[in-house]
Amino acid sequence: MGRRQTMMEKYKQQMKAYRRKRMAKDNTPFLPPDGNVYVMDTLDPTKKIKAEVVKTKMKQHRTIVESLACPVCGNPMVWDSKWEAFICNKHGKKGIYEIIDEV
Ligand SMILES: [Zn+2]
Repeated sequence: MGRRQTMMEKYKQQMKAYRRKRMAKDNTPFLPPDGNVYVMDTLDPTKKIKAEVVKTKMKQHRTIVESLACPVCGNPMVWDSKWEAFICNKHGKKGIYEIIDEV
């Protein structure tokens, strides 16, 4: 019985650590101080596109970009943490736009 308890404790602790890790994985991009966001089409990485910020949100005293306008069709795109990019499904081909630093 005592041993089982220990295993249970261990499991609970692991789950807690796992959950904490997942929370830290929220990698929504921050809005740059000048407010200019540049994206790159992952299917055509040579092009640098200035994106229109649709929606921002305050989080931990910083502004994060919640939505960007799609450079192709103009529809608002939301952040996909799995892709680490903004995704658009509204214009024919799926658009995947990664945020890049202005060079
Ligand atoms: Zn689009």
